This record gives sequence, structure tokens and C-alpha cells, in this order.
Amino acid sequence: MSTVLITGANRGIGLEFVKQYARDGWKVHACCRNPDKASELNTVQGDVFIHALDVTDHAAIVSLASDLAEPIDILVVNAGVGGRGEGDFGDYNYDVWKSVLDVNVYGSVATAEAFAPHVKNAKGKIAFISSKMGSIGDASGGAIAYRTSKTALNMAGKVVAAALAGEGVAVSIFHPGWVETDMGGPNALIKPDESVKGLRALIDQSPVTPSPRLLAYDGAEIPW
Ligand code: NDP
Repeated sequence: MSTVLITGANRGIGLEFVKQYARDGWKVHACCRNPDKASELNTVQGDVFIHALDVTDHAAIVSLASDLAEPIDILVVNAGVGGRGEGDFGDYNYDVWKSVLDVNVYGSVATAEAFAPHVKNAKGKIAFISSKMGSIGDASGGAIAYRTSKTALNMAGKVVAAALAGEGVAVSIFHPGWVETDMGGPNALIKPDESVKGLRALIDQSPVTPSPRLLAYDGAEIPW
């Protein structure tokens, strides 16, 4: 049986990853901040183990990694926040900016770092869920906290890929599309099932390389 661990698993894209892998018979470690409030996650049928994890709590990440002494075939680093309240130029809110970096960059890298030994044991794969809003080529202004967090995540993902390529671990970095979730909103272009179906296919094919590309859920390459 294959094993996957997903962060931010209680709603949105993370929850859809849980549903699809569980449906396909995987063992799923579903991590979320408040398992007691994760009503939909708690109803997912299958081999699903729910863990409390706030990715800004470094000690909690390390502790969970120590508790789960088993190979992990796929690690989906998905938890993320938008930049609500970040402000506009002339009125930036630096506390909000730092909190966005804390989740999207440091939380993501700390998760990958803590679970890298488990993924190495499986010769597995790590997928960072980033955004094309972090692409410098895409930037059209605004959203400074969110955009810079994903730009930094893209670079961090490449650094992690280079660190793990020699160990046989494939690290990939994805834009999930504009997806109808709490973050993506009601006008989004695709539903979570389409995004995650595409992402899973790409994760399966992801190569061991020190230099991954930024790919959208449909395989389109996005400029850094
Ligand atoms: P949602 O807002 O629907 O879900 C975000 C998830 O991240 C929730 O499970 C949330 O948990 C979790 N999360 C937030 N902060 C933390 C934290 N500190 N520790 C652990 N979990 C946390 O967003 P999406 O599902 O749409 O987004 C998933 C990923 O996809 C994100 O990284 C996002 O940036 C990216 N993305 C999404 C796009 C879209 O159109 N939807 C487009 C491009 C990228 P909680 O319920 O506790 O807040």
C-alpha cells in the first residue's frame, strides 16, 4: 500500500487530495490545524489518519515526523494562506506579510525538511503547492504578501529539489489553477477535483531533478 501525507487537509485542495487518494486505496495522513472542526474530513471513507498540525509550529512538525516512523511515498505540501489585510503600497501591513511568509514559506519548507527522511525511505516525491501569482513574469501588481511568499516558495522548492535529488527524491512545484475553494472564491475557473486529478498525474510523473520547472495542474509550464 502506498502512503501520502497532506497538509491543510481539512478543506479546499488539500481535502480533495485526501478524498482522491483515499478512494484509490492509499493510506492517507491528513494534517490540519483543528481535527475536531474538520467535519468533512472526518467523513472521508478509507485508510485516513487525521493529525493536528499547524505548520507554523515547528516543534509540532518535528514531533509528528518522529511519531510517524514509516516511509511516505508522496508528501503534498499544500497548506497556505492568502494575504488578507496585507494592504496596498503606502499602507502595507508588515505583521500580515510576516504571517503569510510564516505559513507559505517557512511552514512549507519545515514540513518538507522534517518528512524528507520518510520520503527518502520510500524513494518518494514531494509536491509543493505554490501559485503562478509567485511568478515574477506573471506579476501584475498588488497582493505583495501572497505573491512574495509564493515566489520565495518557488525558490525554496528548487533549493530543496537540489538537496534531495542525490537521494532519489523527486521534488516538484505546482500552480493548481484558479480553483473554487475558500481561497479561490466562487468565480474560479475549475473545481478542486479537476485540479487535483491533474496534479496527481503530474506528481506521478515528476522526475528526480535538481532543477524542477513550475507547472500548472494541466502540465503547462509557467515562467518563474
Ligand atoms: P483554502 O483557503 O481553501 O485552504 C487552505 C488550507 O490551508 C486550509 O486547510 C487551512 O486550514 C490550511 N492552513 C492555513 N494556515 C495553516 C497553518 N498555519 N497550518 C496548517 N494548515 C494551514 O485554500 P486552497 O485549498 O485553495 O489552497 C491550497 C493551496 O493552493 C494553498 O497553498 C494556496 O496558496 C494554493 N493555491 C490555491 C489557488 C486557488 O485558486 N484556490 C490558486 C493558486 C494556489 P484552516 O482551515 O485551519 O485555516
